[in-house]
Amino acid sequence: MVQLRYDGKVAIVTGAGGGLGKTYALELAKRGCKVVVNDLGGDRHGTSSSTSMADKVVQEIKAAGGQAVANYDSVEFGEKIVKTAIDAFGRIDIVINNAGILRDVSLLKMKDVDWDLIFQVHVKGAFSVTRAAWPYMRDQKYGRIIVTSSNAAIYGNFGQTNYSAAKSALIGFANSLAKEGEKYNIKANTLVPTAGSRLTQTVMPEDLVNALKPEYVTPLTLYMAHESFPETGKVYEAGAGWYGQLLYYRSNGKVVTNASVEDVANNWTAISDMKNAHSLSYMKDATAHLMDALAAQEEAN
Ligand code: NAD
Repeated sequence: MVQLRYDGKVAIVTGAGGGLGKTYALELAKRGCKVVVNDLGGDRHGTSSSTSMADKVVQEIKAAGGQAVANYDSVEFGEKIVKTAIDAFGRIDIVINNAGILRDVSLLKMKDVDWDLIFQVHVKGAFSVTRAAWPYMRDQKYGRIIVTSSNAAIYGNFGQTNYSAAKSALIGFANSLAKEGEKYNIKANTLVPTAGSRLTQTVMPEDLVNALKPEYVTPLTLYMAHESFPETGKVYEAGAGWYGQLLYYRSNGKVVTNASVEDVANNWTAISDMKNAHSLSYMKDATAHLMDALAAQEEAN
């Protein structure tokens, strides 16, 4: 297979000063992409800032012959980050919403600031950067957007109600963006990575942090950002060299006309039976199913 290249393309990688984002920035640049290396350079809890993290990655890219520019704004200020791309390279083709922080604490001990900061960085950040890039992508009829979710969103994790909720929000965000981008050839997908990093040092044993190299995730992220990537509105997982897709499945369920609470309880096995479960791609498909139920309901009355 010919090497997948990104010549002529411009990417913003948020939170690219370390961890996963750094590997994306390095690999994109190695393959001809011009990269905006965004990083606030703060600590893992979202406080403080510095320019050194982004600068080091830019230096590494340039030393290897690639093209990159640093940006130190928080992802909440997407316009500034996109301006860096336009000023330096004149266009924007790829946005990898990767910046992230953790403020783990169980629900009753969670302060408003723990909730708000997580939503500001993960959700408001992805919204802000993507919205600023959108007009350029729409006008050029080309764009690749990636948001970064987490297994914590899908399965839940102790002490991460804030993070799980924010990471779930991003899946919905990308799924709706995929619909809005269809006619402009803008593809939006969600990545669920697992890797050792500064972020996961707090939740993983040290040997696992060292073994789960971020570079094992990078190939999928880059493919998702490539012109040839065929999918939109999908969720993919990567970690330890394993790559897969994640889908919502819905049971066939059962129409129980004029149901009482007891009727729902009595039909629980059929309602929750996942044997012939299926996945839907459009909200209208889910609604169509409800219209059939409504017809049965009306017939019964
Ligand atoms: P990391 O801490 O190494 O990288 C995150 C980067 O984001 C840091 O360099 C940090 O300075 C930067 N950042 C934080 N707040 C920012 C802001 N407001 N503006 C700009 N930059 C900011 O962690 P990582 O593991 O590489 O995480 C990358 C992404 O992957 C995050 O969104 C994280 O939630 C997600 N994720 C990681 C894992 C994992 O196993 N590592 C699992 C699930 C999801």
